[in-house]
Amino acid sequence: MTDDDTLSFTHDSPPVRTVLRPGAALTAPAEEAGRLGLRRLLVLCGARGAEAVRPVAEALGPLCAGVHAEARMHVPTEVADRAVEAARAAGADACLAVGGGSSIGLGKAVALRTGLPLIAVPTTYSGSEMTPIWGLTEHGVKRTGRDPSVRPRSVVYDPRLTLSLPVPLSVTSGVNALAHAVEALYARDASPLTGLTAEEGLRVMAEALPAVAADPESLAARSRALYGAWLCGTALGAATMGLHHKLCHVLGGSFGLPHAETHTLVLPHVLAHNAPAAPEAAAAVARALRTDDAPRALWELPRGLGAPHSLAELGLKETDLAWAAAQVTGEAFENPRTVTVDGVLGILRAAYEGVAPTA
Ligand code: NAD
Repeated sequence: MTDDDTLSFTHDSPPVRTVLRPGAALTAPAEEAGRLGLRRLLVLCGARGAEAVRPVAEALGPLCAGVHAEARMHVPTEVADRAVEAARAAGADACLAVGGGSSIGLGKAVALRTGLPLIAVPTTYSGSEMTPIWGLTEHGVKRTGRDPSVRPRSVVYDPRLTLSLPVPLSVTSGVNALAHAVEALYARDASPLTGLTAEEGLRVMAEALPAVAADPESLAARSRALYGAWLCGTALGAATMGLHHKLCHVLGGSFGLPHAETHTLVLPHVLAHNAPAAPEAAAAVARALRTDDAPRALWELPRGLGAPHSLAELGLKETDLAWAAAQVTGEAFENPRTVTVDGVLGILRAAYEGVAPTA
């Protein structure tokens, strides 16, 4: 051992209770509300999720203060304003977000403005439920921040609720989770425990996704994917994200690209770009994915399971690339490799065209 091996880290373990079991969505929210002393929960979901959420709301019985089905991706500020009004009008003392990152993001926006506690019942693999990160979009610009008050107090994972998640969305959402783990592995503020969580999250999710695609009705595969999402989301919550997340925020906030799909297309190229500056992280990703070419494996996995192939396919225009690169490089953020316009343009162009990553 040399002085370079001297350990130095800070690790915070926030108190988030997590329940994972088939059928939990019908019993655990009321139990968790009871533990937390909450009596009137406003249920938040997206318009398309309202039907699926009904049994969860009904199971709450008198604890349900109403259902507000207006969640939208990237939490536009006017959507957050209306949810705050709805919570006040209903006399809610908490929110129960049921859905993907959009529903949970709306619950966080309400928590940020009102201090109301949040219980999350995730139905995708976005991992937002495990983080203190909020996001709000105004005039096409997405702002994000960290605030402990927005982190859900309890998280209820019910694999039954994810059986309806279409395979392509399951796959891209799963890769969204992988992206959290990849960036946590090279984050300067990640502790050894976060590194272990991230590497295990990568391994579990990369194994679960082909199983979900092969049999979307498999509770075993769905529960493994949720477990992977929990691990990767925990890593996201404990570490500062880098170039990949910044790029995806710009592409989502300014160009309206869908979140999970964008993450899926950008991730292999950012890892290929950052790997020379983060060799230990790249090695951990390769170990977890059981490959000697981690960027290539991250490129092949979703393509083989029905995910989109290029940012062009998502509707991005070639003329958008320079503007996106300028926006990203105009901001200050942590990344293992120095961020340059040319570097970002190279990543964007490769993802735009859908070509394989090159170092
Ligand atoms: P989403 O919540 O927008 O859901 C995507 C689509 O899937 C929606 O149409 C939704 O109705 C549908 N859907 C969700 N669950 C379903 C199910 N079980 N069955 C059938 N359809 C279902 O997408 P997402 O990718 O989960 O979340 C994206 C949002 O979350 C973005 O705004 C992103 O910025 C945010 N996010 C935040 C964090 C954080 O830590 N703050 C982390 C990850 C993502």
